[in-house]
Amino acid sequence: MKSILDSREIAACTSDIEQRVYTSRLLGRDKTLVLHGGGNTSVKASQKNAFGEDENILFVKGSGWDLEKIEGGGFSPVRLDHLKRLAKLTSLPDPAMVNELVTHMTRASAPVPSVEAILHAILPYKYVDHTHADAVVTVSNSVDGEKRIREIYGNRVVVIPYVMPGFDLARLCAERFAADAGPETIGMVLLNHGIFSFGESAQESYERMIHLVGLAEEYLSRQRAWEIEGESTACAGAAIMEMARLRRDISDAAGVPMVVSRYADQNCLSFAARPDVAVIARQGPATPDHVIRTKRLPMIGRDVKAYVAEYEAYFAQYEPLAKERKSMLDPAPRVVLNPELGMCSVGRSAKDAAVVAEIYEHTMDIIRRATALGGYRALSARDIFDVEYWDLEQAKLQKGGKPPAFAGEIALVTGAASGIGKACVESLLARGAAVVGVDLNPAIVSLWQRPDYLGISCDLTDPAAIPKILEQTTNRYGGLDMLVLNAGVFPGGCRIDSLGSGEWRRVMTINLDVNQSLMRECHPLLKLAPRGGRVVVIGSKNVPAPGPGAAAYSASKAALNQLARVAALEWGGDNIRINSLHPNAVFDTGLWTEEVLASRAKHYGLSVDEYKRNNVLKTEVTSRDVAELAAEMCGSLFAKTTGAQLPVDGGNDRVI
Ligand SMILES: [Zn+2]
Repeated sequence: MKSILDSREIAACTSDIEQRVYTSRLLGRDKTLVLHGGGNTSVKASQKNAFGEDENILFVKGSGWDLEKIEGGGFSPVRLDHLKRLAKLTSLPDPAMVNELVTHMTRASAPVPSVEAILHAILPYKYVDHTHADAVVTVSNSVDGEKRIREIYGNRVVVIPYVMPGFDLARLCAERFAADAGPETIGMVLLNHGIFSFGESAQESYERMIHLVGLAEEYLSRQRAWEIEGESTACAGAAIMEMARLRRDISDAAGVPMVVSRYADQNCLSFAARPDVAVIARQGPATPDHVIRTKRLPMIGRDVKAYVAEYEAYFAQYEPLAKERKSMLDPAPRVVLNPELGMCSVGRSAKDAAVVAEIYEHTMDIIRRATALGGYRALSARDIFDVEYWDLEQAKLQKGGKPPAFAGEIALVTGAASGIGKACVESLLARGAAVVGVDLNPAIVSLWQRPDYLGISCDLTDPAAIPKILEQTTNRYGGLDMLVLNAGVFPGGCRIDSLGSGEWRRVMTINLDVNQSLMRECHPLLKLAPRGGRVVVIGSKNVPAPGPGAAAYSASKAALNQLARVAALEWGGDNIRINSLHPNAVFDTGLWTEEVLASRAKHYGLSVDEYKRNNVLKTEVTSRDVAELAAEMCGSLFAKTTGAQLPVDGGNDRVI
């Protein structure tokens, strides 16, 4: 473990808080130290109050902030003397503790202080850093963990036995620290949880953290438990329907649609295929706060019913021992280990599933190394239950509020790099769906950089393209709920008497044949959609009102329209809805340049603005208008509608 501190950068920090932000971000950048909101840091400084008096303040990480991205405003200022007094109480229930923290802040708009605030307050150092370093929890969660920790650190750290985070832990640390700390003490290890370091400067505290974690890494190295030997090599195959069935079973167990992401790299496949996986992976998480993301145990295999029964038994066993009554969370797994699939992570959104995967990738390394050290041992099921059902942990998950309409659902949009297709991706992302955008244009791949977007560049007329798209879609998100058939070509005007067969065939292939292939291949996936499948066809005004010179285009769109109507009849029994939109005169697409618009407007003797609004309502129709309606057609407003055709054209006298 190496320090990544830059002496010039820290020298440029002009205040205690700036230094605190700087080294906190350094910790946050190293995923082997903290993951996703894990860990916390603080600084003690004095501040003038309204009366001009100096007050001692603890600036401690506010909950909801990630160390990697924290800013000055992410630290909550709490009156230090009050915190120190609280630490002397014999008991303080969690809600009362949180109330004390919040009511003794000096900035009303600051975030709720970390539940570890009192612990930070009692450590008599200006800067305090806390991480869940992989190397430290690896040693601590192994056979003879405490003995090994003492062997590594000697007098350099105070060792604290496991107690659930909160007031009791802070109080125990206050006692043990006062009794055990000596002149050599530079840190504190919380068994089965993590490590603290401290110092008089941000740099000193940070460098002590790096040094202490480095000692644990060196120990693992000496014990030949750092470099993990290669396990049996396995090979990942396509698993389109296996993924979709697994996602359906998991979503049914959760009661809501879930995203299931597959990780079939060598690291995950070989771990899932280990002969001892059912033992080593079923001990518990590496640090307790991972439980709210990963649940206590992964599901081994694909029997979701058996997993649910086991989870219900776990709840029934430990709930009566809790201080107050709890209601059961959804019993669906969050991590799946399977020799064919590798590791799958599960979340209410693609982002959540990605967080779970990152945590579990670290967990696999920790388990492998602890196993090499003599055996992985996690906290008891009862201890983990207490953290999983701790109100303050659950509050972290509730922060986002009510999930968006399409949370946990997956949509595929064709022709998504520009115009209506691109707008459809935006409208679906805005409603919480994970979206796969497909386009011939290679720019599709990087149009959005976010976990809930996958861009695939391919030629849909290639017969091999569709299975590949569905494999990538199910590997990334687990299934398919919504299909937006948008890709198409609008060739230049050409009358029938001079329309060649090649051009006719080309337009029919892209506008019609490809969509029939997509519908056929997507049907088994849409049938497994937890809330029923939805298809939206982007048709054209030319279907009800064709124009001269557009024979191939109008015929292809009319045939597609008929195809959709038959699908509505055939697929209703599979709970799949299919509806069509007929846009007209949408000018904010790649087809319409300023010059083309100007020349068309002139042709009709209109200004560009009049030309754009040349409809019954005298309104301009944009890509976004079409996309919003397409997205709504997938939502609850249209839950009872299938086989419908809706114009979105500002009113067209020929259509009306
Ligand atoms: Zn912690």
